[in-house]
Amino acid sequence: MQVLLANEYGFCFGVERAVEMVEEAIGAGEKVRALGPLIHNEQEMQRLAHEGVTTISDPIQIGRLETAVIRAHGVTPEVQKELEALAAKVVDATCPFVTRVQKLAARAAAEDRHVVIVGAPDHPEMIGVKGYAPDHAFIIRDESEVETLPRLRRPLVVSQTTIKSKTFFDTAEAVKSKTDDEVQIINTICSATRDRQDAARALAGMVDAFYIIGGRHSSNSVKLLGVCKEQCEKSFLIETEDEVNPDNLIGVERVGVTAGASTPKWLIDQVVKHLESIGKSLETTLAP
Ligand code: SF4
Repeated sequence: MQVLLANEYGFCFGVERAVEMVEEAIGAGEKVRALGPLIHNEQEMQRLAHEGVTTISDPIQIGRLETAVIRAHGVTPEVQKELEALAAKVVDATCPFVTRVQKLAARAAAEDRHVVIVGAPDHPEMIGVKGYAPDHAFIIRDESEVETLPRLRRPLVVSQTTIKSKTFFDTAEAVKSKTDDEVQIINTICSATRDRQDAARALAGMVDAFYIIGGRHSSNSVKLLGVCKEQCEKSFLIETEDEVNPDNLIGVERVGVTAGASTPKWLIDQVVKHLESIGKSLETTLAP
């Protein structure tokens, strides 16, 4: 049985960078506390907790001798200032793709323009970005919410980094009805999610079974499962290798593997090894 990995899988650039920055701080002997869960993967959070990383939900929980970590989603400038005032050190792991959106929003607000951000209003990334243009920005989920907007002044339209491009462009187009001025549309969607889906789709048609490694509550992992199922009925979302049922691999010649953007490499390696050993034992069992 051949185990084939999709061309793109696992940690996205921003998450990998955040974990590396945290590990560097741990290596320097710092007591590290992340504001909000650093990553949506239980196993990786447990590993980091083992290394001493704890999570806080409010800046006031940080100690004077501790290092505060801003995760890839970013925070508002106020929260950043609060952390800087309270912590011994702040590690800013905001993903550079998110920083770009924050800067665009801040610049437009400084020019007294309105900013429309297409995304989920309660998502931490969106709350952070809005904080850069508090009196000028509106967050709307999609086209259907455009009617809730007031008349807009020279609007800039940007997006949450993980939404679908169709949602963004349809909404941006509809925003034009809310102004007589020119609408500046800047697509700030990050390609990490789409790249993983495209790679999984490309592999799904070539395999007899597919394992998607990721948290059951990780939306990008659940979406990967849907993409794989379109072409490979035997597609399974698993969190660890213990969830692989060898019975599902009987008669399978090629098995595909991919992982969500929050799944660490060590966990993927464990699953691949496990699948390979199941493959070997099935060959032995079935040999004449
Ligand atoms: S999904 Fe994209 S924007 Fe979000 S952390 Fe990963 S690389 Fe950055």
